[in-house]
Amino acid sequence: MPDPLYGPGELLALDREHVWHPYGPMPGRVDPLAVESASGVRLRLAEPAHGRTELVDGMSSWWSAVHGYNHPVLNEAVRAQLDRMSHVMFGGLTHEPAVRLATRLVEITPEPLRHVFLCDSGSVSVEVAVKMCLQYWRSTGRPAKRRLLTWRGGYHGDTWQPMSVCDPEGGMHELWSGMLPRQIFAGPPPATYEEEYAEELRALIARHADELAAVVVEPVVQGAGGMRFHSPAYLRVLREACDAHDVLLVFDEIATGFGRTGTLFAAEHAGVAPDVMCLGKALTGGYLSMAATLCTPRVADGISRGEVPVLAHGPTFMGNPLASAVACASIDLLLSQDWAGEVKRIEAGLREGLSAALDVPGVRDVRVLGAIGVVQLDHPIDMAAATAAAVREGVWLRPFRDLVYVMPPYVTGDDDLARICRAVCAAAREG
Ligand SMILES: *Cc1c(COP(=O)(O)O)cnc(C)c1O
Repeated sequence: MPDPLYGPGELLALDREHVWHPYGPMPGRVDPLAVESASGVRLRLAEPAHGRTELVDGMSSWWSAVHGYNHPVLNEAVRAQLDRMSHVMFGGLTHEPAVRLATRLVEITPEPLRHVFLCDSGSVSVEVAVKMCLQYWRSTGRPAKRRLLTWRGGYHGDTWQPMSVCDPEGGMHELWSGMLPRQIFAGPPPATYEEEYAEELRALIARHADELAAVVVEPVVQGAGGMRFHSPAYLRVLREACDAHDVLLVFDEIATGFGRTGTLFAAEHAGVAPDVMCLGKALTGGYLSMAATLCTPRVADGISRGEVPVLAHGPTFMGNPLASAVACASIDLLLSQDWAGEVKRIEAGLREGLSAALDVPGVRDVRVLGAIGVVQLDHPIDMAAATAAAVREGVWLRPFRDLVYVMPPYVTGDDDLARICRAVCAAAREG
């Protein structure tokens, strides 16, 4: 390995001076940890922190690194593609990695999703989904249908349209409430099925049908909006109400896709298919930024028969060959193994390990679904103290709001999983 460019302290000083981090001020108030390399489920630090130079990753780098880091199969896929070409424009050109990826995604996602728009990030895939829905109604002669309905507690990304369907209160985008498109919100979906809530959804969709382009939700698990789980039965309620009232249904599976909740896609818990589906995060196994928006022939035909018969969207790096190649390899790797068994094993390990958190003062709720574990406190967490407590246990966690949560790589062994659970308890106690 080459010598590091910067001496101790220097890297962090330059980071503080120049580099913006997610949801942070400039300069940052808490120094990040410098990672020198990563392999398997371990992050190797450039400098020891709280006596640790290696941390077990409990976050999969925000849902994405499902196979862990530095995986030989994924490395080889990138290398092989690199030797052919790392990128060519997608306007007027095409290539095998993108065609393979799109074909593969159509095969593994619910019928009748059949068309794939590849884009750069999750937020952009939600923008594309919204654009598809708005344009569908405009093209089919109903331009008044241009609002969106969602439920509270959601998170769909940080660009403009996605922000408008994030939870409007207590979330990261409250600042912009007066400037965002005004969407229609149902209450947060309850964990278990309640007929009253189902009625609320039906009534809202019926009342606003003339102005509604689409319902946009995260199926089964709401991620960054609060890490809440809900009954899949609500997805069937949405599907039926959308069909009854001519409204499109968009599932944002950017966090839930590729096995995280125990089914390959969370929509499968309910046995329903959306009209438009967003994928991202684990799509490339955490290697490169890429997302996808899938739609049905009905949506695509509607748009393509319109006055402007094209979807006017085309990111510069659309269909990037390196990202497409590693996405194909990651999907093949996932499906070539008993991923569902591994997710079940992790679910059992999290249930057992996190049950100890119920004895920690200040813990309000502990919940587990698939390879996702959540400990919710009755107070906002002290993020620095909680992170430090986890690092002392040898684990990387990134708590937020009143939540300590984990979604470890599927390759996490039982000992490392137990360690992650101990760290969550320590973070809950000390945060
Ligand atoms: C992370 C996330 C997004 C945004 O994806 P980015 O790649 O960060 O833009 C959108 N929706 C959901 C459900 C997410 O978890």
